[in-house]
Amino acid sequence: MIRQTVARVDLAALKSNYRAIADRLSADRAARTPGVIAVVKANAYGHGAGQVARALEDAGADLLACADIEEGAALRHAGVRANILVFGALSVSDLDGLFDCQLTPTISTPGAAHAVQAAAEKYKTRVRYHLKIDTGMNRLGFRFDNLKRTLPALFASENLDLEAVYTHFATADDPESPLFNEQRLRFERARADIATMNHGTGEGPRDVSSFSSSYVHAANSAALLRDSRVWYDRVRPGLLLYGVVPPPLAATLSLTPIMTLVSRVVAVKGVRTDEGVGYGLKFTAEQPTTIAIVPAGYADGLDLRLAGRGSVLIRGRRAPIVGSVNMDMLMADVTGLDVSPGDEVVIIGPQGDDRIDVREMAAQIGTIPYEILCRIGSRIERVYA
Ligand SMILES: *Cc1c(COP(=O)(O)O)cnc(C)c1O
Repeated sequence: MIRQTVARVDLAALKSNYRAIADRLSADRAARTPGVIAVVKANAYGHGAGQVARALEDAGADLLACADIEEGAALRHAGVRANILVFGALSVSDLDGLFDCQLTPTISTPGAAHAVQAAAEKYKTRVRYHLKIDTGMNRLGFRFDNLKRTLPALFASENLDLEAVYTHFATADDPESPLFNEQRLRFERARADIATMNHGTGEGPRDVSSFSSSYVHAANSAALLRDSRVWYDRVRPGLLLYGVVPPPLAATLSLTPIMTLVSRVVAVKGVRTDEGVGYGLKFTAEQPTTIAIVPAGYADGLDLRLAGRGSVLIRGRRAPIVGSVNMDMLMADVTGLDVSPGDEVVIIGPQGDDRIDVREMAAQIGTIPYEILCRIGSRIERVYA
């Protein structure tokens, strides 16, 4: 038994997006091709973390990233064998998951350093970690301008091994913002500072790349598209993998959106001139109007603001969403189209010669594609092909 409204996820397109990114990285740099950290946090941006992660492994991904230890555990339970980096802050109570599931933590605060060191000691093991530097986002990470004070204690931790150093850009998607370049320069300085901290070995200054053979990463999707200088050793695309380019950047890679959100018309209703439609009668028919009822609503993650702004595709044509988006249903104006119950409705994706993409939908309601994808509800079955 399956509901009418389903999210079809095209895993072949996902793999081809992964390869398009990898090809791009090898094309621009003859010497050393950066690797990829495939970002599958938030249930792989709503696409289903287990299936997506395993398809990415198939495509060659050797390092995935998620938001927290619980997401990492879910990936392991789905059978993922690749290395898994946890981006988020670690809460002390769930550190066991790092060891049980062989996850790689990000250490972004002195408190986390302390807690992971203590846990590693308890488990009588060593932990490889990624060190996060805050270069201007002012979220997680050790402040770039204070590292000589904050890092020595971390580097002296007996059971912790530095695997990589990274930062995150606050304005990579804003070509006008000077902070992007400033963050890049701050990160360069931070790397140099780290290189002069000898990890307690008494040796001379070392380049960070040979510092416990650690490596460096910084670029999310927008930064990857925008500036090859921040590719370093690995890049961290999320949105691009799912075939969507972060607005307002232009698509300079050949990508395919991997999710199509489809439903079916469950009823068709004639409405007379001057009659209203739905809660609050927010839509009034100015002429005899035909309304199609579609069984998908805000409980499925569709935004209320789509009413009066967005459209769905029915019979290859755009049908405006009218009235209000309800919990389990929406209404579309199909006047003049020959629509019957059972007809396919495309909410996101292509139909005929037209396509509704998440960038367009996001712009209509004043949000970002990320939010639309992540909010697609748990009631909607993901069907993989
Ligand atoms: C989510 C996230 C990414 C991926 O961002 P996209 O814009 O989807 O490419 C990369 N790095 C970190 C630290 C993130 O949290």
